[in-house]
Amino acid sequence: MNMKNLLKRYRIDDGRKFRLKDIVPNDTAGLDIEKDAAKALLKGGVERMAGLQERLYARDRWSVLLIFQAMDAAGKDSTIKHVMSGINPQGCEVHSFKAPSGEELDHDFLWRTTRRLPERGRIGIFNRSYYEEVLVVRVHREILAAQKLAPELVTRNIWLQRFQDIRAFEAYLGRNGTVVRKFFLHVSKEEQRRRFLERIETPEKNWKFSMADVAERAHWKEYMAAYEEMIAATSTREAPWYVVPADNKWFTRLVVAAAVDDALDDLDLKLPPVSPRQKRELARARKALLAEKPPRR
Ligand code: ATP
Ligand code: MG
Repeated sequence: MNMKNLLKRYRIDDGRKFRLKDIVPNDTAGLDIEKDAAKALLKGGVERMAGLQERLYARDRWSVLLIFQAMDAAGKDSTIKHVMSGINPQGCEVHSFKAPSGEELDHDFLWRTTRRLPERGRIGIFNRSYYEEVLVVRVHREILAAQKLAPELVTRNIWLQRFQDIRAFEAYLGRNGTVVRKFFLHVSKEEQRRRFLERIETPEKNWKFSMADVAERAHWKEYMAAYEEMIAATSTREAPWYVVPADNKWFTRLVVAAAVDDALDDLDLKLPPVSPRQKRELARARKALLAEKPPRR
């Protein structure tokens, strides 16, 4: 199967005509594959990614930022876990962003995430991100009211301004060697209901359930409208969104793994060149090591 073509269906790099309804949460791109085949495909993707990530690290020029946004129970955590499962933990960092602290509210809205950006050679994952600033903050205006902004700064245009700021910020990151890829795991309201029920009915999953999540569910429509506008306004060639159907977990993982592979593939990840001098040093070191006497037993 051609993963590049598959990815095109879900990649938004010019949001002007984007409509959320065009991507269906239970879509599997006609891939009616068995669980085992899906697993094998994912395994291939993950292995490729592990190899590319090692080169990313050795090359030390680029960093990769992967942003995950979704409604509750869409599978952010498990997707991150599966897709990054083959990666050297030293080359990868995951950061989760919850409601901001007092210190965070004393700064501009990009401050806390900026501090967690990946170094060159690394993959950084944001489990939620500054995009919450145009999602939960937009759906719940009382959060905006608590943001310590002077009233003259909170205008009708605040969301448009935030979109502009985010676009500029991501362009800036791109120009400095950070490759940005954003994922909206698009789950249906019905599938979320099913997953919540499963959390309630399975004792080992009870800890995952929170009444607050049910309350957020009541704002589904407002969230979808906010997501649609946000994706339309912040999809660019350098920092595209992937709207990933999320009713089938195997498919979500497959698409995300393929998109990360694709992003790494686009980079020039040749291993660092070895100079003639380094070659001479290697030859000398080799000779010295070979000349060492083996230890007596
Ligand atoms: P889980 O999947 O385990 O529930 P989670 O990401 O939902 O993980 P929670 O602790 O349940 O984590 O919730 C985090 C909450 O923080 C979300 O409701 C999110 O909307 C909120 N949040 C994140 N960023 C901001 C922000 N900038 N302002 C206000 N709320 C935020
Ligand atoms: Mg939650």
